[in-house]
Amino acid sequence: MSFFRENIEAMEGYVPGEQPRGGKFIKLNTNECPYPCSPKVRAAIGHAVQAGLQKYPDPGAFAFRARAAELFADDVPGISPEWILCGNGSDDILTIALRAFVGEGDTVRFANPSYSLYKTLAEIQGCQTDVVDYDADWKLGEAFTAAGARLAFLANPNSPSGTALPVEEVRRIADALPCPLLVDEAYVDFAEDNCLRLVAKNERVMVSRSLSKSYALAGLRFGFVVAQPSLIAGLAKVKDSYNCDALSIGGATAAIDDRGWFETMRTAVLATRLRMTDELRGLGFDCLDSQANFVWCNHPEHDPVTLYERLKAEGILVRNMACPGGWSGVRITVGSDEQIDALLERLRSIC
Ligand SMILES: *Cc1c(COP(=O)(O)O)cnc(C)c1O
Repeated sequence: MSFFRENIEAMEGYVPGEQPRGGKFIKLNTNECPYPCSPKVRAAIGHAVQAGLQKYPDPGAFAFRARAAELFADDVPGISPEWILCGNGSDDILTIALRAFVGEGDTVRFANPSYSLYKTLAEIQGCQTDVVDYDADWKLGEAFTAAGARLAFLANPNSPSGTALPVEEVRRIADALPCPLLVDEAYVDFAEDNCLRLVAKNERVMVSRSLSKSYALAGLRFGFVVAQPSLIAGLAKVKDSYNCDALSIGGATAAIDDRGWFETMRTAVLATRLRMTDELRGLGFDCLDSQANFVWCNHPEHDPVTLYERLKAEGILVRNMACPGGWSGVRITVGSDEQIDALLERLRSIC
C-alpha cells in the first residue's frame, strides 16, 4: 500500500542533466555558462553574509524588482516593481504559475519537443496535459491556441531545438489563446528578440527569465517573471513567503546591474556558437540555427546515444535528448573556446 497520491505514485520524477561529482568532465550538457559570474556578484553576496543571516530576507525581493523595472522600462512602458515576481530559479516561477492557474484535473498546454519539466510539474499537480507537436518548420499550428487549457507554457527560444518563434507569432498566439500564456525566456539573452513588449499589451502574457544561463548564476538559483500587476498579485499568493534568500537577492541584483560583464560574456558565447555550428556542419552534422547557448544536432551516421557514450568515455558530457514523438539528437552547450576545441577534436576522430 502506498501513502502517496496516485499521481505521485505513478510518476517517475524529473531527471536533471548529469551533474557528475567526481572526475574532470568537460560539461556541455546542462547549458551553464562556461565563464564565471561578475566579481560584483561575489562582492554583493559577501556583503549579505557580513550583514548576518539571522533575519528573514525581504519576501518581495524589492531591491531586485526595483532595479529590473528600471532595466525593462523601454520594453514595458509603465513597468514598476508590481510587474515583477522573483523565484528560486525560473523553475520556481513555472511551479508557481501552474499551481496558481491549473487545478487538479484541469489542462495545461505545452509544445513538443520542449522543456521536459513542464510534464513533470503537471504530473505533480495532477492535471491533464495537452501536448502540441511543433511542425517541420518549428512553428505551432492552430491546436496551440484552441480552447480548453487553463495555462500554456511556451519555451522561446525552445529547448532542445534552439529555435525561436518570431515575436509577432507569439503575439498572435497570445491574442488567440483564451488562457494565460507563460513565455519561458530562459535562453532569450542569446536570441535576436524577446517578448517582453507583449506584456504591456496583453494582460494574459507572462514572461519568465532566468539568471542561470546568461548571467552565469546556475548555482545561485534566481529567476523572475514579468506580467501585469493583477497577474503578479495572484501569483504572489502562491509563492513560498521566502522563496529567494538574502544571498540570491543580493547577488542577482548586482548581476543585472553589471551590464558590462553581462555583455562581454554574451558576446563570447555568441561568437563561439557561430564557430561551433559551422565546424559541426563541416563534420557532417545537421544543426539547427540556434537562438540559445546550445546547439541541437544529429549526425547521419552516428546515433545520439552512441555519440553521447563515446564523448563521455573521452571526458566530455553532452545531453542525449530523446523526446516523445521520435525526436532525438544531441544537445551541446556552447562552452568556452577551449572546451569546444576539445569537443571538435574528439568528434573529428569519431565522425
Ligand atoms: C534552464 C531552464 C529553466 C530553468 O532555469 P532556472 O532559472 O535555473 O530554474 C527554465 N526553462 C527552460 C526552458 C530552461 O532550459
